[in-house]
Amino acid sequence: MSLPQRLLDGYATFQSGRLAAEQSRYRDLAERGQSPEIMVIGCCDSRVSPEVIFDARPGELFVVRNVANLVPPYSPDGAYHGVSAALEFAVGALRVKHIVVLGHAHCGGVRAFAEDREPLSPGDFIGKWMSLIAPAAERLGPRGVMPPSDYLMRLEQASIINTLHNLLTFPRLRKLIERGSVELHGAYFGVATGELSVLDPESGRFVPAIGALRA
Ligand SMILES: [Zn+2]
Repeated sequence: MSLPQRLLDGYATFQSGRLAAEQSRYRDLAERGQSPEIMVIGCCDSRVSPEVIFDARPGELFVVRNVANLVPPYSPDGAYHGVSAALEFAVGALRVKHIVVLGHAHCGGVRAFAEDREPLSPGDFIGKWMSLIAPAAERLGPRGVMPPSDYLMRLEQASIINTLHNLLTFPRLRKLIERGSVELHGAYFGVATGELSVLDPESGRFVPAIGALRA
């Protein structure tokens, strides 16, 4: 069974373009192994690819994507924990220096939580997964008369902050953060505008990334 034509065409373009240009980098990475300094926790959303947004080359970003860019709190209970495993590898083996939680506008997962949708399947994996943002919703309080789009943006951003708190529940990571060896960051991508905002830890607000860089 062949891959979809779109993928074959894309691979052909990669092979003659980017691969040709970066062949030696790929060889180096294969020999020496990867050593990315930045981990990105992003959403599965097809519009929000961290490598595209940050113009990353091979070997630069260690990326974990899941529905709504969430990290469940530390819970060594013997269950399967994909995000925790990736985190353990990034922090313990790769020794990344930065962890960026990248949220975005128009997040379907966050909207599903906010609208309290009917489960899509008997397993209701999305409903269970999205319950991770309940603490963020609680902190925001009742939405009152706020327009839905404003509320969703606030919830998307509050959820990034909540995920950053969840990261602090991992004892080893917490120690590294306290020692200054690892820095946590929150970022938010506006899909329609392409604007990137970053969390200002002082104010707890998201401010334009470029303005923050210039400041
Ligand atoms: Zn999303």
